[in-house]
Amino acid sequence: MRTPIIAGNWKAFKTIPEALALVGELADSVRGVSGVEMAVCPPFTALAAVAERLRGTSIKVGAQNVYWEKQGAYTGEITPPMLQGLVDYVIIGHSERRKLFGETDETVNKKVHAVLAHNLLPIIAVGENLDENEAGKTGAVVTRQIRGGFQGLSADQARTCVVAYEPVWAIGTGETATPAVAQQACAYIRGVLREISPVYADAIRIQYGGSVNAENAAELLSQPDIDGALVGGASLKADQFAAICAAAG
Ligand code: PEP
Repeated sequence: MRTPIIAGNWKAFKTIPEALALVGELADSVRGVSGVEMAVCPPFTALAAVAERLRGTSIKVGAQNVYWEKQGAYTGEITPPMLQGLVDYVIIGHSERRKLFGETDETVNKKVHAVLAHNLLPIIAVGENLDENEAGKTGAVVTRQIRGGFQGLSADQARTCVVAYEPVWAIGTGETATPAVAQQACAYIRGVLREISPVYADAIRIQYGGSVNAENAAELLSQPDIDGALVGGASLKADQFAAICAAAG
C-alpha cells in the first residue's frame, strides 16, 4: 500500500510572520488526521522558522527548488547540504521553473541526483502544457520528462522518489483535470516507471496537481493511481489544506 502524500507548494507567498501564522493554524487543523503524509513547502526565507515551529508535529517540510552543486560561487543558489536537517522533501522541475527559469530534463535530473545523494526526497514534477495536451502529446511529454528525471537512478533511489503529475493548463487556473483524466495520466506514468524500475513502480507515489481544492480532492484522491496531491493556491489557507489532507487520510 502506498501512503498518500499531500504537499503544499506556497510558491513566492508568505513572509516569515505570515508563514508562522499559517503553519500554527494548520498544525491545529490537522490534529487527528492520520493515514496521510503531509508537507508544506514554504519559500526558502521561511524554511528555518517553519521547520522549527513544526518540529514534533505530523507535518513535514519541503523546499521548492535546489541547486545541484554542494557549494561554491553560485550567487543566489541554495544547495542540498544547506537543506539537510531543515526539510525532508524538495520539489524539482515544477512547471513554473521549467517555463520561467529555463529548467530542462537534464537540470532536473542533476537536481534529483544531488538531492538523493544528501538523503533528501525529490518530488519530481511533470506535465504537459495546453498546446501539447490539445495536440495529443501528453504521453510523449510525460514519458520524456519521467525518463529524463529518473535517468541513472538505482532502483532503490527510484523507489523513494515522488512524482507529481501536474498538467500545466490546470495549475492556478481553477480548471482541474477530471478524476478520470488525471487517473489515466497517472496510470500512464506508472507504466513508464514500470519500464524504468519494474520492481518498484508500484511503490512510487504519484501525486496529481492542478487546482486541487477541498471540494474536488476526495474524488481525485480516490483514483487507484493517484497517491496524493501537490497543492498550490489551496495550500495557502489552513482550512482548505487541512480538508484536502483529511480527504486523503
Ligand atoms: C502547483 O503550483 O503545483 C499547483 C498545483 O498550483 P494550484 O493548486 O494553485 O493549481
